[in-house]
Amino acid sequence: MPELPEVQAHAERLTADYAGRQLSKFVPLTFTALKTVVPAPDEAYARPLEEVGRRGKYLLARFEPITFVIHLMQGGRLSVDVKQAAKPRGGQARFIFDSEIPPWLLTEQGTERRAGVWCVSSDDVLGSPPLDRLGPEADRIEPEELVERFRAKSMRLHGFLRDQRCLAGIGRRLANEVCHRARLSPFAMTGKLGLDEATTVVTAIREAVAEGLEYERSRDDMSSSKERPGRVHHRAGEPCPVCGDTVRAVEYSGYTVNYCATCQTGGKVLADNVTSRFLK
Ligand SMILES: [Zn+2]
Repeated sequence: MPELPEVQAHAERLTADYAGRQLSKFVPLTFTALKTVVPAPDEAYARPLEEVGRRGKYLLARFEPITFVIHLMQGGRLSVDVKQAAKPRGGQARFIFDSEIPPWLLTEQGTERRAGVWCVSSDDVLGSPPLDRLGPEADRIEPEELVERFRAKSMRLHGFLRDQRCLAGIGRRLANEVCHRARLSPFAMTGKLGLDEATTVVTAIREAVAEGLEYERSRDDMSSSKERPGRVHHRAGEPCPVCGDTVRAVEYSGYTVNYCATCQTGGKVLADNVTSRFLK
């Protein structure tokens, strides 16, 4: 899933190429692509794109008076639609601009079909669904606020990092990377973490986001998950780049927690849900 660095760099690319271009039409390609009824997309027609911004993992295509809030979910992409096929594979919606520049095509591969577009008044984008329930931006939070949030809802650190109501912008990959950089167990209970640990987590988030952003800004298009930089995510069985121990995996139905026992758990192997293939 694209996370904060991928979405941010993509927003910057789209702004550079499309700011000032007029929208001529928004075309949903499925019944589920447009998640809102009012206001209507046509209020943005013949208006110039002001910018593409980001909040959490959402892209915000700002026009006056409305903003399109776009969520890519797991396998979604918002691409420059050079081919303009009549029935694009996985096609969800198209944003057609003035004739000199190709449309954007929102696609979602796979079967989840949860990517979509919300049309929201530009006056209150952040206070309207779906953005109104998001926690603070992950790379902006300070340790004092984070430790308060840790205490308010004690849960596993990995789950906390991925919960968009706790912090916005982090997904499965960055949660693995942040826990590893912070040398904390992904299963550490947040209610037991103090200001020192919160400070460590804040630093880890900022470093992991900066690394991702630097890579993503070097590209012309959004990376695939396998291409993204990292130390433990999707690296089960490989040596930890810090200590050389083997990166381990705890598998869940929808995602995998990767960690290094030596760096993060004092050597303890996290047992629940483990598939034994990477263990002795
Ligand atoms: Zn290690």
